[in-house]
Amino acid sequence: MAYSAKLTINCNQDCTYCYEAVSRQENRHVGRQPGNEVDKLIQAVKDIDMTYAPNLHGGEPLLLPKKQIEKVLSEFYDMFSKKIIERKGKLDPDETVTSIQTNGSLIDDDHIEMFLKYKTAVGISIDGHEELNDGRWMGNVEKTRKNTAKIIRNIQKLKERGVPTSIIAVVNKHNGTKERIPKLKEFLLMMKNIGIINGRLNMIELDFPELADQLQIPMEEEIHFYQEMAPFLMENDLYYAPFIDVVDSLLGFGYRTCVTTQCDPYHTLGERPIYGDGTVGNCLRTSKDGTVFLAEKNGNADRVSNERYSILRQIPMSEGGCGGCKYWSICNAHCPGSAEDGDWRNKSQHCESLYALYETTERAYKKMMPNLRLTTEKHNLSDNEMFNRINNGTASDLVFSRMFEQTNDRGGRRGAY
Ligand code: SF4
Ligand code: SF4
Repeated sequence: MAYSAKLTINCNQDCTYCYEAVSRQENRHVGRQPGNEVDKLIQAVKDIDMTYAPNLHGGEPLLLPKKQIEKVLSEFYDMFSKKIIERKGKLDPDETVTSIQTNGSLIDDDHIEMFLKYKTAVGISIDGHEELNDGRWMGNVEKTRKNTAKIIRNIQKLKERGVPTSIIAVVNKHNGTKERIPKLKEFLLMMKNIGIINGRLNMIELDFPELADQLQIPMEEEIHFYQEMAPFLMENDLYYAPFIDVVDSLLGFGYRTCVTTQCDPYHTLGERPIYGDGTVGNCLRTSKDGTVFLAEKNGNADRVSNERYSILRQIPMSEGGCGGCKYWSICNAHCPGSAEDGDWRNKSQHCESLYALYETTERAYKKMMPNLRLTTEKHNLSDNEMFNRINNGTASDLVFSRMFEQTNDRGGRRGAY
């Protein structure tokens, strides 16, 4: 189970494609403790049995006064550095203990000092430099570009000071079209030059259909995006999801993110936000009408249902389901929050482009290593067995088995020419 600490869902940027936009419209102060106090949130984290510190999340977490941010980071640092030492016997010098996801626009030197002190990994939400980031609109072009330039400077400062930093970009009309891809590549290489090689390129998930023309890239361009970016990232040693996730699940090493793990929309184990008032909720990606569903604090595996997945698997692809799909084992209909028509019962609205990404990656690996038997190939396992094997990271034995068998068959003797 992965937890986040939602200090506030309010945000100074208010991007229209944010998955929390509808909930924010309904009540931007939901779950916030009066006076921005954080003691209830800290107590909730102490009460829950968790291995890793919850990611400080928002909205924009840096909207909170520095005193409160420092209180949360220092409490989390104390709690979770002890847990790391209990588990591993030591805390490595470059090991991160806490983490934050921020739009990066409010970061100053005091925040950077805190990140260094509490070993915080920083994720920055930005879609690229200059016009690539115009989807995060600040009212007019001048303000938007100025804000983007400030975020880039903050990213550079973080790296100069040695703060582990990564990028999450939302792929939309400003950065993901055929025309803009060359500039996006330029941005990713610019980030690589300052030492950032990982993050996420998340396809846009829009909850306001009236904004689709403005922000959403057409399916044909989504497909092109994945086909174009997969080899580029591979050739440049860049480790961005979903590309890297596809590689891991094809090779059987596990699912890296929650989106392919048969998430129950009402018991989202991949994301449990803890709000400022200490309440625990479900992932806001599945909230399409702004309702913030609450969840049990410590989860309850018996309550989790896989009905979306068992039903979609029985409906043929031609009729809107996933029946017969070759890539079921690595996709599992994808995130219910990105389902077609905002209805979690459907498969992902990105089915076609994801399929193209899986196909492109699969072909590349089979070409490199024809002896692999990828998790998408025949293994005489049921869907559930394969899901469990990938999920617990043991499917890699199956994938590489043919290579081991052939090595053993040679009995240590090399074949004669
Ligand atoms: S709804 Fe989607 S993003 Fe949220 S936990 Fe489930 S799979 Fe993850
Ligand atoms: S690629 Fe499409 S059909 Fe296949 S599992 Fe994913 S959503 Fe379903």
